[in-house]
Amino acid sequence: MAKLLEGKPLAETIKEGIKQEIATLKNKPVLASVMVGENAGAESYTKSQKKAAEALGIEYNLEKLPGDTQESALIEFIKKLNADKATNGIIIQMPLPQGIDYKKISAFIAPEKDVEGMHPANIGKIIFGKAKILPCTAAAVMELLSASGADLYGKEVVVVGHSEIVGKPLALLLLEKFATVTVCHIGTSKAGKLEEHVRKAEILIVAVGKAGLIKGDWVKDGAIVIDVGINRVAEKIVGDVEFEPAEKKAAQITPVPGGVGPLTVTMLMRNLVEAAKLQQA
Ligand code: NAD
Repeated sequence: MAKLLEGKPLAETIKEGIKQEIATLKNKPVLASVMVGENAGAESYTKSQKKAAEALGIEYNLEKLPGDTQESALIEFIKKLNADKATNGIIIQMPLPQGIDYKKISAFIAPEKDVEGMHPANIGKIIFGKAKILPCTAAAVMELLSASGADLYGKEVVVVGHSEIVGKPLALLLLEKFATVTVCHIGTSKAGKLEEHVRKAEILIVAVGKAGLIKGDWVKDGAIVIDVGINRVAEKIVGDVEFEPAEKKAAQITPVPGGVGPLTVTMLMRNLVEAAKLQQA
C-alpha cells in the first residue's frame, strides 16, 4: 500500500517559513485581488484566499470593479496597481466578463507583481532556471516531489497534460532537475499511446481533468504518483487516476482532495513574499 503524499501538513510547514520571512520584511506584504462583476463562486474563493492570506500576516485587498468595466479601463486599473508602491502582488479573479481576454489583461501586470507566475517574462525565466516566481500549481507539484524524497536526476518522469499553468512549466522545472521528461496530452491518447508511456513512469504526474483516465494497473510498481486533477463525480471530488488500484502499486501517491490542492494557495502566498522581497531589495 502506497504512502500518502499529503498536501496539508506540507502546506503548514511552508506557511511557518512564510510567516518567518514576513517578519523580516520592512512592511506587511499586500495582495490586490481584482474581481470584475458579481460571481458567487469567485466571491467565495476570494473569501477563503483572504482568510489564508490574513492568517499569514498578509493584507488582502479585494478590488471589485463593476460588471460593465471595459477592457481598457481594467488595463488602466492594473497599471495603477503596478505603480502603487504599497501593492506587492496582483491577481485577477476568474471569470472575467465576456469580451475581456484574461491572457491579454494578465500580461499588463508588472512581472515583479505577477504572483501567479504566469507573466510571459516569468515563464521565460523558467527556461533559464532563473525564475523566482513560479506558476502556483507547478510549484506545488515540485514541493510534493521534494517532500517525497525522490531524487529526480535521471528519473523517468511522465507528465500527462500540457496546459500552460501546469504541464508545460512543470516539464521545464523537471528538466532543470535532470529528470527524463515525457509530456503526454490529448494527442498521445488519440494515438493510443498513453498507457505505454504511463507504464514506464517512475514518477507520474497527471493534470488533465478526466476522472479515471489513468487506470490503476498502468501504474508502475513503486512509482510516485501526483494527481493534480479535480473532478466531481457523484458528489465526490476525485482525481484523474483510479485511486484504489493505483495505491496498491505506487510507493507514494497524493490523495484527491488533500494532495496538490492545499499547496497551491500556499504557493501563491510564497510568491507574494518573494515579490515583496524583490521590490524591497
Ligand atoms: P487544461 O484543460 O488546460 O489542460 C488539459 C490537458 O489535458 C491538455 O494538455 C490536454 O491535451 C490534456 N488531455 C485532455 N484529454 C486528454 C486525454 N484523454 N488523454 C490525455 N491528455 C488529455 O487543464 P488544467 O488547467 O491544466 O487542469 C487540469 C486538471 O487539474 C483539472 O482537473 C483542474 O481542475 C486541475 N487543477 C488542479 C489544481 C490544484 O490546485 N489542485 C490547479 C490547477 C488545475
